[in-house]
Amino acid sequence: MNKAFLFVLLVVLLSFSVFCSAPKYVFFFIGDGMGLAQINAAQLYKSSMVNAEQPKLHMLTLPVKGMQTTHSYDSFITDSAPAGTALATGYKTKNGVIGLDPTLKYRLETIAEFLLKKGKKIGIISSVSIDHATPASFYAHQASRNDYYEIAIEMVNSGFHFFAGGGFIYPEGKKGDQLSIYELAKNRDYTLIQTYEGFSKLTPSTGKVIVINSVLDSSKAMPYDIDRQTGEFSLVEITEKAIDFLDNEKGFFLMVEGGKIDWACHANDAAATIHDTLIFDESIKVALDFLQKHPQETLILVTGDHETGGLSIGFAGTKYEANVPLIGLQKISFQDFDNVLATLKEEKRLSSLNDLYPAIEEAFGLVPSKDKASNGKIAMSEYDIERLEKAFQDYVKQYDSKNEKSYLLYGGYNALSVTLTHILNEKAGLGWTTYSHTGVPVPVYAIGNSSDAFAGYYDNTDIGKTLFSLYR
Ligand SMILES: [Zn+2]
Repeated sequence: MNKAFLFVLLVVLLSFSVFCSAPKYVFFFIGDGMGLAQINAAQLYKSSMVNAEQPKLHMLTLPVKGMQTTHSYDSFITDSAPAGTALATGYKTKNGVIGLDPTLKYRLETIAEFLLKKGKKIGIISSVSIDHATPASFYAHQASRNDYYEIAIEMVNSGFHFFAGGGFIYPEGKKGDQLSIYELAKNRDYTLIQTYEGFSKLTPSTGKVIVINSVLDSSKAMPYDIDRQTGEFSLVEITEKAIDFLDNEKGFFLMVEGGKIDWACHANDAAATIHDTLIFDESIKVALDFLQKHPQETLILVTGDHETGGLSIGFAGTKYEANVPLIGLQKISFQDFDNVLATLKEEKRLSSLNDLYPAIEEAFGLVPSKDKASNGKIAMSEYDIERLEKAFQDYVKQYDSKNEKSYLLYGGYNALSVTLTHILNEKAGLGWTTYSHTGVPVPVYAIGNSSDAFAGYYDNTDIGKTLFSLYR
């Protein structure tokens, strides 16, 4: 054999081995509650009325596109537990169940557990509590997603290397009488980091770490991105840190959940949804930069676990008009506005709706009449004021949230905050149909090694199955 022939043979064999090997690095981005309308609303907000396509969201630049159905074993409308289980294991289960089959007898192996055995490092990130349904679907096996303490125990026993984002809902069990999960984590050789300073100093190592954001809301989740203050880490910084921490010669699997896209949609707060979708998208950019350096070895997968809120671009009152950038008038989430209201109430500065207009203008850019609508502020209509007046009365006298009419109006949320987000969303041409999830299919975007396998229209379980098949 001559040398030239040997060289060609070597090149062919090498490229064959590169293309035939499964991805060394896997990024799995899950936007909780993120359907097409959430993505499109974020895109329209980021771009402009003149050119609604540019600049494109990073996820929309991924070349492979798919669509997945999201129903669970027992419901057309899934919750995040069976949806996460389908994505992580390739199997359907009942609503509320994590990592077990519908009979609750069999444990379903997750792709993260499988790849850990293959020698990869594993990272799990979520902007909600780290024991919540979506992250738990990658490491836990529980009949109820609400058994947070049991889920947390499985988490510290998982052997996964990097957990980051929110905290634990019941760190000492539901009654507060169990061994602290922080102690159990330390016993399992996890280093706990709970300050921005500690997070900044975190360096790649052979150890295992749990990073909890320095500021958490009452549900132990990171704040909405629209409310993020300096000194709190963002999903982008956490993703960057995870890559530094996990990178090694055997590769890694990293799941990143934008968990509060869903929560904002439950509350029908489009601004909070859009901001959380945008920061989620920026964290995808971090993975795309990594892919530039390892193009043959990296797979990036982006999807939602289901849609939340029945969000639509289009509202009855605005007919053929939608001006999504108007959402920019909102400066804080509904949740932060709840706090503003609570303070005003406590200080007895809320005797009538008139007392509230300055705060409404500041937070939502809405004013009570046309003559006050300067600097791009929007005047509310007579009908808006009527609704707001009713919401004010209901807020003051604490409405019955079980009553059908109240539920349809407010979904169990703060009557004033939800009415204000509804009014502003409607001005922007955004409508909602529910305070829960919906059954519509959600998009999938992919790039890199084996990404072609994710083109087409399929079920959520096919994503889990395909991920496993790449390594079997
Ligand atoms: Zn949800």
